Amino acid sequence: MERESEIYEKIGNGKVKCGVCPRRCTIKEGGRGFCGVRENRNGRLFSLVYGKAVSSSIDPIEKKPLFHFAPGSRALSIATLGCNLRCDFCQNFSISQDWEGISGEEIKPEEVKNQAEMYRCQGIAYTYTEPTIFLEYAYDTMKEGVPDFYNVFVSNGYMTKEALKKVSPYLDAINIDLKGGEEFYREHCGVQDLEPIFETLKELADSKTHVEITNLIIPGENDTDDEIRERVKWIKKNMGRDVPVHFSRFRPDFRMKDKESTPLETLERALKIGREEGLYYVYCGNVPGHSSESTYCPKCQNILIKREGFSVDAFHLTKEMRCYNCGEDINIKGKSWIPKKLFKG
Ligand code: SF4
Repeated sequence: MERESEIYEKIGNGKVKCGVCPRRCTIKEGGRGFCGVRENRNGRLFSLVYGKAVSSSIDPIEKKPLFHFAPGSRALSIATLGCNLRCDFCQNFSISQDWEGISGEEIKPEEVKNQAEMYRCQGIAYTYTEPTIFLEYAYDTMKEGVPDFYNVFVSNGYMTKEALKKVSPYLDAINIDLKGGEEFYREHCGVQDLEPIFETLKELADSKTHVEITNLIIPGENDTDDEIRERVKWIKKNMGRDVPVHFSRFRPDFRMKDKESTPLETLERALKIGREEGLYYVYCGNVPGHSSESTYCPKCQNILIKREGFSVDAFHLTKEMRCYNCGEDINIKGKSWIPKKLFKG
């Protein structure tokens, strides 16, 4: 199951230029791109991971994390090998970077949809590694799923406008990991220019796709007040104050095993900065039981969605997604996929 890429150009002498992510790799015959999963075969570019899922499981949507999209629903979550970043702190390094040989269980797009149905999921998530890298597989699966199932990406946002344009019509929601400033990306992710990620976020802000942002906070690397405030200000200015932001706890892994986990005080400092700057919905990630797991009304502070870990314990929104207490309009999307049982009051 291999498939020719749709976003590339032939540039002569048998070489091709991939247009899926901003690396725009030039690949000679027989060669592969930076991600390791796109190959030039006789002057044509192929995705080697089409239909080859290395990971497939059923997750609460809250685990992505997406807190303001179809709360309480479940997503069949799939990934393939490969990534276009080289993050030192990757939690999924064995399938994103540190692998040898193309592998994966053969699952066709229609079979993914069938599995979502069989496991009573409301949607399909393209996650764990970078979905941009398996764009063709994701795209065909997304088309299979509509209109019964939602489609969500968990992404680093490092994609071209062409790639985003391709999937946009079928992309209901996305969580983008905004990791730090330019220096951080250079030092820890193998990305020289983070402008394409900002561009992706701005394009999404003007689209129908629901957006949430995750910011993994690593002690000593991207955790000063100034750095956090700068990111928060950018988000508010370009995405609006009602975009949900998840400040996520780092756990030592891969090439950053020597670091400490993020102290709770740091995450709470980030929450405070987010609120001071006027963001409506800020959360701590990877801190089970923290009060910020729940969603509060920005107007009357009433609890709107009470969460315990990744489960929704109480839901105090009307069917129109307004606060039950004061009627404030709340940024919650994907309401047709919210399980009916939640609307009990
Ligand atoms: S998707 Fe892969 S091959 Fe294409 S530009 Fe990005 S890293 Fe290079």
